[in-house]
Amino acid sequence: MSNSKKASKNSSAGKLSEDQIKANFTEMHPPLAASQAYIEACRCYFCYEAPCTTACPTGIDIPEFIKRIQTGNTKGSARKILEQNIMGGMCARVCPTEVLCEEACVRNTHESKPVAIGLLQRYATDEVIEKKVPLFERIAPTDKKIAIVGAGPAGMSCAHRLAACGHNVTVFDKNEKAGGLNEYGIAAYKALNDIAQKEVDYILSIGGIEIKPGVELGVDFTLDKLREEYDAVFMAIGLPGINRFKIEGEAVEGVIDAVEYIHDLRQAELMSKLPVGDKVVVIGGGMTAIDIAVQSKKLGASEVTIVYRRDKANMKASEHEQQYAQVNDVKLRYCSSPKTVLSKGGHVTGIEFNVTEVAHDGSISETGRTYQLEADVIFKAIGQTLPDDALGESAGGLTIESGRMAVNDDRKTSLDNVWAGGDCVSGGEDLTVSAVQDGKLAAQSIHEYLQNI
Ligand SMILES: Cc1cc2nc3c(=O)[nH]c(=O)nc-3n(C[C@H](O)[C@H](O)[C@H](O)COP(=O)(O)OP(=O)(O)OC[C@H]3O[C@@H](n4cnc5c(N)ncnc54)[C@H](O)[C@@H]3O)c2cc1C
Ligand code: SF4
Repeated sequence: MSNSKKASKNSSAGKLSEDQIKANFTEMHPPLAASQAYIEACRCYFCYEAPCTTACPTGIDIPEFIKRIQTGNTKGSARKILEQNIMGGMCARVCPTEVLCEEACVRNTHESKPVAIGLLQRYATDEVIEKKVPLFERIAPTDKKIAIVGAGPAGMSCAHRLAACGHNVTVFDKNEKAGGLNEYGIAAYKALNDIAQKEVDYILSIGGIEIKPGVELGVDFTLDKLREEYDAVFMAIGLPGINRFKIEGEAVEGVIDAVEYIHDLRQAELMSKLPVGDKVVVIGGGMTAIDIAVQSKKLGASEVTIVYRRDKANMKASEHEQQYAQVNDVKLRYCSSPKTVLSKGGHVTGIEFNVTEVAHDGSISETGRTYQLEADVIFKAIGQTLPDDALGESAGGLTIESGRMAVNDDRKTSLDNVWAGGDCVSGGEDLTVSAVQDGKLAAQSIHEYLQNI
């Protein structure tokens, strides 16, 4: 049963008309027109050793791409971006630029605002992706075969770079559509007009990449088999498991996993048909919590509250994201950890919280005080995991560190011809842009390895 169906007795569809919902889900930041892009590009100082580039996880030469916009060379600008980050179109929409390139921009002062790097990046890449303008050529095909498990940002970035080097890439994914969380997870208002599939199509247009959808590692094939049949394997399966609250009363109708609900939302033909709660409580402190809260509001929920166990300063969602939730009429409550889910007749009616205190080292303790919130839907947005069985039987030799695959700087795992990257490896940032960078680094390392076998 899909998560939106699990919510059905506690919530109802049709709170808003399809037209009202469409109006609510318009662009978070509308794209720049050519004249606006020119004016914004002229604000850049084209810094030497630019701090914005250092802050970009994929190391895009930001002053250079902005310079090209200023001189009217939009295609050249797109090339500059995409040669470092093939998912530069999606990253322009979803990167938390306020804590990356734009935070580092020298124009980011009390008196001024940073150059709108994200919007300029989108301006440069939109047309190229939309019209599939070929900017990269595949060199003469080699006889080397690489298997990639997972068609998300890490897998697709790795696939593109290896295909460009002439290798033959097969990408296996358990979902029907490629794109990973770009297609199934990112908030709908950040990924309008089917941008995730357009970007996948752009990546595939280089040639040499075959996608095998609807097949699952551990069910339809094993890692051992891939290692035998292919010269190298790249694991990019994200975090397919979901954390549980482990609190009393959790297993009642109306307590829903946020990621699975967003999956249904992103694939819904008519969003007005999705069941929506009236009083919605979201538990968590990251991007997923913000996204499900804002989307619930946009779908017509009357009261949405995010509750986080630590204080505001410790919230993983940035100040900017917290403000975005508040602008969208979402309430935020801090220092509260879930204690008991309240229910009647098997349906959630509310939730009780322990009030917490946060020490200087970030550790939390309970104060002994409690309070309750009414709710007909509770969303769990408390993170994903790499379950033990996600890697299948034959993954014995893979070293696991902090619950994820351990890799070196080249994204090589402990197994001979196996690399890994994206959310499924330890030590990452859990961002789209970091996953793209992991795929790129792994592809470079795999390419070097293939020269010597
Ligand atoms: C709700 C939500 C909102 C987010 N919003 C943002 C945002 O706004 N900005 C941002 O930068 N980041 C955001 N993130 C994080 C970002 O989406 C991830 O960091 C990024 O998608 C990781 O890429 P990946 O390729 O490692 O994994 P994924 O995107 O998760 O892709 C993994 C792929 O592997 C496949 N797979 C899994 N298991 C198997 C198996 N056994 N066999 C075959 N295939 C398998 C999956 O189907 C999937 O296609 C968000 C995450 C979530 C959950
Ligand atoms: S730091 Fe700001 S001003 Fe300097 S190059 Fe980057 S975007 Fe331009």
